[in-house]
Amino acid sequence: MGLNLKVVTEVSGLDQLPVTHLKGVGPAIAAKLVKLGISNLQDVLFYLPFRYQDRTRLTPCNMARPGEEILVEGSVVNTEIVMSRRRSLKCVIEDDVSSLTLRFFHFTSAQKNNLTPGTRIRCFGEVRHGATGYEMYHPEYSLLTSKKPLDLEKTLTPVYPSTEGVSQNRLRSIVTQTLGLLESTRPMKDWLADVPLDRFNFPDLLTAILYVHKPPVGASVSMLETGQHPAQQRLAFEELLAHHLSLQQGRDKIRRQRAPRIKAPGKKVSQFLSRLPFSLTDAQQRVFAEIKHDMQQQQPMLRLLQGDVGSGKTVVAALAATLSHESHFQTAIMVPTEILAEQHLANFVRWFSPLNITVAWLSGKLKGKKRQEQLDLITSGTADVIIGTHALFQNDVVFANLGLIIIDEQHKFGVHQRLALREKGGSANYLPHQLIMTATPIPRTLTMSVYADLDCSVIDQLPPGRSPVTTTVVSDGRRSDVIERVQKACQEGRQAYWVCTLIEESEVLQCQAAEVTAKQLADALPNIDVALVHGRMSPSEKASVMEHFKQGKLSLLVATTVIEVGVDIPNASLMIIENPERLGLAQLHQLRGRIGRGVTHSHCVLMYHAPLSQSSRQRLSVMKQTTDGFKIAEEDLKIRGPGDVLGTRQTGEISFRIADIVRDQFMLDAVQRIAKQLRTNAKHCVQPIIDRWIVDADRFSNV
Ligand code: ADP
Ligand code: MG
Repeated sequence: MGLNLKVVTEVSGLDQLPVTHLKGVGPAIAAKLVKLGISNLQDVLFYLPFRYQDRTRLTPCNMARPGEEILVEGSVVNTEIVMSRRRSLKCVIEDDVSSLTLRFFHFTSAQKNNLTPGTRIRCFGEVRHGATGYEMYHPEYSLLTSKKPLDLEKTLTPVYPSTEGVSQNRLRSIVTQTLGLLESTRPMKDWLADVPLDRFNFPDLLTAILYVHKPPVGASVSMLETGQHPAQQRLAFEELLAHHLSLQQGRDKIRRQRAPRIKAPGKKVSQFLSRLPFSLTDAQQRVFAEIKHDMQQQQPMLRLLQGDVGSGKTVVAALAATLSHESHFQTAIMVPTEILAEQHLANFVRWFSPLNITVAWLSGKLKGKKRQEQLDLITSGTADVIIGTHALFQNDVVFANLGLIIIDEQHKFGVHQRLALREKGGSANYLPHQLIMTATPIPRTLTMSVYADLDCSVIDQLPPGRSPVTTTVVSDGRRSDVIERVQKACQEGRQAYWVCTLIEESEVLQCQAAEVTAKQLADALPNIDVALVHGRMSPSEKASVMEHFKQGKLSLLVATTVIEVGVDIPNASLMIIENPERLGLAQLHQLRGRIGRGVTHSHCVLMYHAPLSQSSRQRLSVMKQTTDGFKIAEEDLKIRGPGDVLGTRQTGEISFRIADIVRDQFMLDAVQRIAKQLRTNAKHCVQPIIDRWIVDADRFSNV
């Protein structure tokens, strides 16, 4: 029996051995470990600590600092139950130099009786500011009863992300056993052993794994916790590589499918262009050429089109749709809000009806017979271009022959919504082309990691004649000055937005707040036409307000953040944003992008409510300093981290174990280069690297 097992470990790697191979791990624990993504012994090694404790040395009581976890040893001086705000057990201990208070809010009488004066005790815990000065709450402790001194730990103690039913001690023992196997037989492949990574000074894989699970005495906890140690960086590199490879693999999978070949002569495209009141910017021409080239291929296009707010992405989308139509394929355009759907609808109908291109549309609020009419247009193939919100991928929507999917303002949609549309568009024979447009520029670090499966086009130029927006930051203590300013602007024939925000996610409350504000402003500005638009108005009400505003019949539009994306009204040149401190940079940038679209110089007033937190202050000052969306996105990523920048819906898809794309961005070029090398010269190691890091690799490759 023992002999058999030995043979197994030598022949196959740790990834072939189930966790039940370890002592003390039966089916019950194995089942719990599966929830942590651990099923074999290789998984154990790649289950990484997220912080460390130093139990390798004793700290004198007088060196205790709040916020630090330390190991102390001393004799009990006094133990008593204290009845203050909360009943607690207070135990003062003393070492050679000073004393420290231990505090227990939950305790047993046995515990109290054991902590008699004179007893020697060793404790580990975090020091805090307590009622009597520095205190340790609920330390782990052992009583030193025998003469023989307790050993100190030989390594830093790792702390693992845990789950109910698997204690830290259990995890540590599982890891220790596995590391023992790893050291004695080394059955784990270092796929990067022959890869030229000299400039990073990484240790080899085995050294790195041993180090992160068992950092030696003297290793710096703070360095480890910021992930700066070369051993951690070695692992972070491999993790980034694994994600990159996985995205590329998903992309290959899509690329192996056939796409409708759009081989249009482009006659309607020329007609479309000749009817436009402007000519395309160089940047628009360049990205359209890229898109056209992709659509002529037999593989599905997967392209991310980035362009700052107002850079003119919609026209490019319309051109792509025209091209698809000329090859007799339908185009679906998905947008995040009803307002945007309606605005696009109006634009597209205006552009397309002279060219005999039929536009249909769907939204959540379209019901009954009207909806059925649109569905029939879509299914019969009469509709050439279909615009809609997420209602586009409800089950009863059947496209006749979808050739192109355009997703506008991608950051508003989760990746899964994107997928759903692609799946329903495809038939057994082909997958539609896909163009994803985003107005929140995505920092390069994210395009290189999270969007590595997409080709990227950038419109890096605004149409001519735009005047830059000046931004000021004022406290709402100056509300009346701000109102006066609105009055002046409106009297000069300019139009203004007044944007209301609320902390609560509740749409109802947000709309109520906007209603109140609209009323107040209407009272304060009797000579000015004030209107209100918010998410709970009916689509036709909203559309009519927007139309009036567009025609200049209204001067001041009070709105919730529903106007954040896409809305395009060039004469509006003043925007007040209330409580901008509640919004992220990307959202502020989007909002501000609604002005500065015409020839008049535009102003944005960020009216905050004091006091501002450090990070709000930082964000508002970024807004004041620049209007460059890419710069703003980089700052946003620094301030909020990738999860928030991408939106909560997508955070699950970029939760790294050890890598941090902001901290580790200096590696991304190398990650890309090495991924390419492996994919061409060492294909056999691609899958093993992915499997090691991405538990549910299949889910990822579908993204
Ligand atoms: P976004 O990239 O934010 O979606 P839009 O497509 O809404 O921007 O375009 C913003 C405005 O600029 C629209 O009014 C559009 O008609 C106009 N526009 C687009 N391209 C040009 C161009 N090349 N020259 C002048 N105006 C343009
Ligand atoms: Mg747009």
